[in-house]
Amino acid sequence: MLGWETLQRHYLNLTAKDGASLNWSWQKCKREFFKVVPKVCACCGSKKKIEVHHKKPRHLFPELALVLDNLIALCGGGKGCHFHIGHLNNYHWYNDMIETVAFYVRKISVKKKNEAA
Ligand SMILES: [Zn+2]
Ligand SMILES: [Zn+2]
Repeated sequence: MLGWETLQRHYLNLTAKDGASLNWSWQKCKREFFKVVPKVCACCGSKKKIEVHHKKPRHLFPELALVLDNLIALCGGGKGCHFHIGHLNNYHWYNDMIETVAFYVRKISVKKKNEAA
């Protein structure tokens, strides 16, 4: 089971290198991001536990860490799209096609909702 520790490690990976100043910029960056993008999961449309995911991970593309274009909103909370789709069930991995996948998953979940209604 994915625990708090794993999530925390993920978070630490994001902030470890440049410490406090980056941490602050990151908080600011997230605020800016949600001014532009609605706080809903890009995959399933959930509004719960929305996290900001880097499409290109920070440890491989540090220059994109604070680029809004490199961010996508995904639902978290251990079982969410962030872990399963953004990271393919492993925080050491990342989904290179996240944007495309999110687009189609979103389409399917909207379709399902319409069918159920
Ligand atoms: Zn989701
Ligand atoms: Zn992520």
